Amino acid sequence: MAYRPLKQRLLCLGLCLLLTAAFLEGCGSSAKDKAEKVEKTKKEDPAEKARKEAVAKAKERPEVIDEDEGDLLILVNKQYGLSKNYVPGDLVQVKTCDTTFSSNTVKKMKSEAAEALEELFTAAREEDHEIVLRTGYRPYGYQEALYNSYVKSKGKDKADTYSARPGYSEHQTGLCCDVGIKGVDLNSFTNTRAAKWLEKNAWHYGYIVRYPQKKEDITGYIYESWHIRYVGKEPAAYMHKHEMTLEEYLDQVPEETDVIREDTDE
Ligand SMILES: [Zn+2]
Repeated sequence: MAYRPLKQRLLCLGLCLLLTAAFLEGCGSSAKDKAEKVEKTKKEDPAEKARKEAVAKAKERPEVIDEDEGDLLILVNKQYGLSKNYVPGDLVQVKTCDTTFSSNTVKKMKSEAAEALEELFTAAREEDHEIVLRTGYRPYGYQEALYNSYVKSKGKDKADTYSARPGYSEHQTGLCCDVGIKGVDLNSFTNTRAAKWLEKNAWHYGYIVRYPQKKEDITGYIYESWHIRYVGKEPAAYMHKHEMTLEEYLDQVPEETDVIREDTDE
């Protein structure tokens, strides 16, 4: 080996160190790039993308509806509301209801929804589930009083997670209701066999569980096992099968009914 002066050897060592540092830095940044790529792929998950698009599209709809035009798929949520004077036509008293809980004013629903609900209750009873209606149609003023009482006791932020502002409650449509078991409060209903039955079978009668689990970012509400919404049999079957909320359904499903029918043989 040829002899090198000390100065040259030191220079050589310095260069080596520099190169190693540059190499390590290079490795680091490539690992970082990879991590960023994985993160990006996660963010571009198609289901997540579809959800965001559904919400974005929903924002294009008229914001306040004045009168009942018989649309079974009417959308009422935190963005889309009903005017103070919106009163659904064709309201009838629901027979199978919990009379020990709130007044008769809120035991009504639109006749088609009420009829389907009685069929649902009968089917549930045949399998030993005593499900009854707690509240159906709620007039604007009723919701106003209810919401204000929640705000007063729990604060506005908390109230907004489970109660609608007046005009923005689906209950004003006469197409949805809270159901339950006599003597069992709503939150306890979630863990009952009856709630499981409802989740599995409501679609047969044209109903959907309107605020499902893991869809809070779309519906704006936490999971409510007891709040069911009448949409008609075919849409309900489709939404059940594809685990869709009403928001997603309205944005993603074509209007031709045979497309929907084809998909509902379950
Ligand atoms: Zn409800």
